[in-house]
Amino acid sequence: MQKVQEHKHSFDPEDWPFDFDENVGVVTTKFVMNDEQPIVEVLHWKDGDWQFMCNTTDDADDGMVVCMGCLFTKFPWIAEFKDLKPGYLAYLDNKQWLVEPIDEM
Ligand SMILES: [Zn+2]
Repeated sequence: MQKVQEHKHSFDPEDWPFDFDENVGVVTTKFVMNDEQPIVEVLHWKDGDWQFMCNTTDDADDGMVVCMGCLFTKFPWIAEFKDLKPGYLAYLDNKQWLVEPIDEM
């Protein structure tokens, strides 16, 4: 897990739901950060990396690394993925989050 430069967040540290540092870098897309697209897929890779994807783009130029603390500040509801195990993904299907193993080649 790579870290971004350490900085403070506005939430109460007691509200931090995850068991890793809040300055961990995670992958999302600029559409998610610009509120243009919702997060519809969350991947927690076996190596510990996280991705929060809108699945509207395959273009690497649309991807961006943000800090998990900043993402949580913007989307507090991602706390619900704190128990998503490494090697699993959650995806939105008809307004329900379904979890399944990531099919890694
Ligand atoms: Zn941050």
